[in-house]
Amino acid sequence: MNNHKEDPLENGNRKAVSSYFGALTFDQKAMLKKLPKEVYKALQNTIKTGKKLSPEIAAAVAHGMKEWALENGATHYTHWFQPMTGSTAEKHDAFLTLDSDGTPIERFSGGQLIQGEPDASSFPSGGMRTTFEARGYTAWDPTSPAFLMKGGKDVTLCIPTVFISYHGEALDEKTPLLRSMDAVSSSAIKLLGILGVDNVSRVTTYAGAEQEYFLVDKKFYAMRPDLIMSGRTLLGAMPPKGQQLEDHYFGSIPNRVLEFMQDVEEELYLLGIPAKTRHNEVAPHQFEIAPIFERANIAADHNLLVMEVMRRVAEKKGFALLMHEKPFAGINGSGKHNNWSIGAVGGMNLLEPGDTPESNIQFLVFLVAVLKGVFKRSGVLRASIASIGNDHRLGANEAPPAVVTVFLGDLLEKVLDAIESGKVDFATEKQVLNLGLAQLPELNKDYTDRNRTSPFAFTGNKFEFRAVGSSQPISVPNMVLNTLMAEAMDELADAIQAKIDSGVEKDTAILETLRAEITATKPVRYQGDNYSEDLQDAAAKRGLPNLRNTPQAMRALLEPENRSMFDRYGVLSDQELTSRLNTRLERYIKGIDIEARTLQLMLKTFVIPDVSEYQGELAGSYNGLVEAASRIGLSDKTLKSQGDHLRELADNLASLLDLTTELDAVIEKLDAIEDEFDAADYCAEVVLPTMDKVREVADHLELMVDRSKWELPTYSEMLFEH
Ligand code: ADP
Ligand code: MG
Repeated sequence: MNNHKEDPLENGNRKAVSSYFGALTFDQKAMLKKLPKEVYKALQNTIKTGKKLSPEIAAAVAHGMKEWALENGATHYTHWFQPMTGSTAEKHDAFLTLDSDGTPIERFSGGQLIQGEPDASSFPSGGMRTTFEARGYTAWDPTSPAFLMKGGKDVTLCIPTVFISYHGEALDEKTPLLRSMDAVSSSAIKLLGILGVDNVSRVTTYAGAEQEYFLVDKKFYAMRPDLIMSGRTLLGAMPPKGQQLEDHYFGSIPNRVLEFMQDVEEELYLLGIPAKTRHNEVAPHQFEIAPIFERANIAADHNLLVMEVMRRVAEKKGFALLMHEKPFAGINGSGKHNNWSIGAVGGMNLLEPGDTPESNIQFLVFLVAVLKGVFKRSGVLRASIASIGNDHRLGANEAPPAVVTVFLGDLLEKVLDAIESGKVDFATEKQVLNLGLAQLPELNKDYTDRNRTSPFAFTGNKFEFRAVGSSQPISVPNMVLNTLMAEAMDELADAIQAKIDSGVEKDTAILETLRAEITATKPVRYQGDNYSEDLQDAAAKRGLPNLRNTPQAMRALLEPENRSMFDRYGVLSDQELTSRLNTRLERYIKGIDIEARTLQLMLKTFVIPDVSEYQGELAGSYNGLVEAASRIGLSDKTLKSQGDHLRELADNLASLLDLTTELDAVIEKLDAIEDEFDAADYCAEVVLPTMDKVREVADHLELMVDRSKWELPTYSEMLFEH
């Protein structure tokens, strides 16, 4: 931290977090101070309703924001957005302008606040734009507070924006997320209306992202081209001590890491990000940070900032931050549990059971809507989290599998079974209460822990989507969750309404609809061990999609039935969806191409020379031994075992050389494949398995070669040295 007046460290003492929380954001407090009353009110109204700001109001907001930013040392401003690259982008402009007479002055107009025009041609558009209309606009999202980003002495005003093309197509991940939140709101309000709740004007979804990550010492990182280029180790033998002892989880946090966490938290608090928990994770050097949940669009912005701040602080503390889903083979990977719920703005959580019959009926309706949406669109949900890194995790031993099922827990299972079998009649108040729903909140904690293998688990008053990858922006999975939820709520509403229209009494109409849906969605409920063979069998029997890798998962986005959902809900047009599909496939193929080439380079410049050198030395000393054998009375047995050792090394080096040639050919072939799906399949089916074959031999050699000859830092060093 610098000497800024909001520095949380005052005379070496920590200030109460509440006294500086959000100090670097243009929040309510700053707005009240800097904006005239009517401007403040108009802005608040825009934030609540999403209505457009008038140019005059925008100009006044821009003025207030500029004053505030300048007072806090800012020299530049930037529109901060989420292109389809999986991270964020910014282009800085100085406030400084020269007046007509050359006088320097800081200026920031309403127009500059509301709209920017970065050169869109350098961001992926998945073929949506032809180059002659490469223009794209960024447009302010007033629901997400502007903030000051500090780097050294530099202070920049960051304005969260959406990024759209000249023709209004979304070029970013945030626009579709915002659209999906609108869709959820109108569908939920309609469904609530049928249930008799008509005082809700806006429904939103909430997200809380539990972020896992690894920290390794920068000196090791700097010597690993694979970590630098691809974020994961492409080689590396397992250390004798892995995570078998599980002594890291919830253990005491090493001091150096604790200092890192404190610095991160201070920065996050200044940015108004409510970091709440921190702890060690299962693997050595693996940790987690989780904020308090917020509206999904804010949570998505904040999660990106969390990743960015952590990366910067890690750098300062001499660490490298690994956000990859599987940085170390054979060691637990990193995920990002996306806790998701739906609720009236400033009001009730619709996934929270209550203590009145009405609230419980309402809870059940929304719960069943989730089951319905996830069941119907499980392929799309799987596709939303498909990525090169997450492929190593999904389906591996510790992470949720590639099959999306829902875990509800015993109590809810019983409730749904009771409804299905006709044991419950909503007409009697007592029966609804007797379902036992009132006990649910108390069971929260149990729920989370009872089935850690489930990719999508109900945890008391929210669902936890655990299959999200640690490096992924949460905008995409939340956008999909929201859209499938909007569709499911509409379908439920229509079904209930149809019954009511045909003369069925309301409670009965609801109950009958729920009963039918509980039966229909049964296949997606799975309470067993998701790592087991049984799940694979169940998936096959129940017809659940089992999309094992990214190209398979992305094909879900080709199905017209799935595509039309996004279009119908105004979330993604057909063209916007195609552009995302193209962008993600391209990133997958390029990513694997980079990995394969990095491995090739490491083999040729590290592994093969190191092993050859050691082999030369061994051969030399073996020759010496043979010469001296009779003189010093060496037994044949001793000579033979030394020879065997040398031969094993030489044999392995020979296989490695062959495999390197094979890898060269595979890379060449990949580059020649034109069709993107064919290329992606080739990556999954040929390139990665070839890399695994190479790795097996190289890792074996690592354990044979003199440590002083092996240049790459080892797993033991990276994972156990602090
Ligand atoms: P754990 O999953 O480790 O048991 P918690 O259940 O306490 O931890 O919370 C995990 C995350 O879920 C936190 O980010 C928390 O803020 C978030 N969360 C809690 N309630 C909700 C909710 N209603 N909607 C969305 N996220 C929530
Ligand atoms: Mg959790």
